Amino acid sequence: MLLIECPWCGQRAEIEFSCGGEAHIARPADPGSMSDEAWADYLFMRKNTRGLHREQWNHSSGCRRWFNVERDTVTYRINAVYRMGQNAPEASA
Ligand SMILES: [Zn+2]
Repeated sequence: MLLIECPWCGQRAEIEFSCGGEAHIARPADPGSMSDEAWADYLFMRKNTRGLHREQWNHSSGCRRWFNVERDTVTYRINAVYRMGQNAPEASA
């Protein structure tokens, strides 16, 4: 079982969380000026990283807050957990 460190609640079992996909995808400033292809790319295209990957997680069965996780997709090792709005760790990824 994967254990995830919620920044507010501490270490909990993976079953208490929901993964929200790739982190740090900024909404375009002016979507109206984008082509359909660029808008579709923003909405649907995500990295399929082998190795370090940054994801959004929600503690859905706990405090219900969102936070970011930097995780290795090969080993499942979690390198860092940080709150929304905080900078990602520099040493990795
Ligand atoms: Zn929590």
